[in-house]
Amino acid sequence: MNRRNFLKRAATIGAAVTVAPMSFSAFGEATKTSSSNLGRMKLTFAPYELQLRHAFNLARYSRTTTPDVLVQLELDGITGYGEASMPPYLGESVESVTNFLSQLDLGQFTDPFRIADIHEYMESVAPDNRAAKASVDIALHDLLGKIMNQPWYKIWGLNPDKAPNTSFTIGIDKADVVRQKVDEAAPFKVLKVKMGLDNDKELVEIIREKTDVPICVDANQGWNDKEKALEMCHWLAERNCLFVEQPMDKTQIDETAWLRERSPLPLIADEFMQRLPDVRRAAEAYDGINIKLMKSTGLYEAHQMAELAKALGMKVMLGCMTETSCGVTAAAQLAPMVDWADLDGNLLIANDPFDGIKIVDGQVRVPLDRPGIGAVPLEG
Ligand code: MG
Repeated sequence: MNRRNFLKRAATIGAAVTVAPMSFSAFGEATKTSSSNLGRMKLTFAPYELQLRHAFNLARYSRTTTPDVLVQLELDGITGYGEASMPPYLGESVESVTNFLSQLDLGQFTDPFRIADIHEYMESVAPDNRAAKASVDIALHDLLGKIMNQPWYKIWGLNPDKAPNTSFTIGIDKADVVRQKVDEAAPFKVLKVKMGLDNDKELVEIIREKTDVPICVDANQGWNDKEKALEMCHWLAERNCLFVEQPMDKTQIDETAWLRERSPLPLIADEFMQRLPDVRRAAEAYDGINIKLMKSTGLYEAHQMAELAKALGMKVMLGCMTETSCGVTAAAQLAPMVDWADLDGNLLIANDPFDGIKIVDGQVRVPLDRPGIGAVPLEG
């Protein structure tokens, strides 16, 4: 395709996918233009605070908002969308993400399909900054999918019918709030229960008064005694529990390996897991891994992590942070590859500026014919 035809086609694709213009008022203030030339990628970004529907209570802290940065990557009239979500315990912030993004010069890449080179470049700019890198990676995948006019599940050759049921998270809370959350979770066929405090069993008993759907448990490193953790695994196995996520502290590798030898339930690494090299380390103590785009630096590495974990015979779970439908829908493109999905992050916020995945009969569904990551901005 020559350049003129490409531009013509790009304009058509752009018109087809841009359902509504996005009016992020903050764009233009905290923005960086890598190049104004045609054929050069232009990165813009703006902070966006996520408002949580319920206070988010975990074993170690509580919060009502999550800082986030929304990203746009534009090339020849086509726009890819991405985001960085920064739960405080992961160490990134609006300041660190915008600082990182400000240092990038993506205009140097004349071929946007050089995903590996772009990741290598981002690593050379600064280590860590995983959510910041994920925001660029997601926007890049969105852009490339739109240029190819295909959704990513198709580009990867995946069958969307194989996406697993997704779980809905019931956080640690008072009994009446837990009952209300279980009612809200009626469309879901799996519940994820956050644990790691003294009333863990009470929480499960309240849920079991109302429903017998399978649960999965996330201890968030809250069980620091291996004997107690083993007792909980046996107790949960008798109550239709599928697996236990991060039962003990991420540094307790020997204790976790001990627990795996004896536990009737699979153990899944979450806080222990960040990026591709962690998959092999996780295999020493866990039965599976939880992949999240904000930790993996986006889809490029997440896809490789899922492939490696499967090759090692491990279970794969796909999770997310509290995110808009942008990040969650991008992750959902990978859902047909995984055993369990925990993609409810967009449902936990009250100000989602995107339209994307839907939960149909408990299963996560991406918009099947929408190119790129499958999320589009809502008007507003
Ligand atoms: Mg977790």
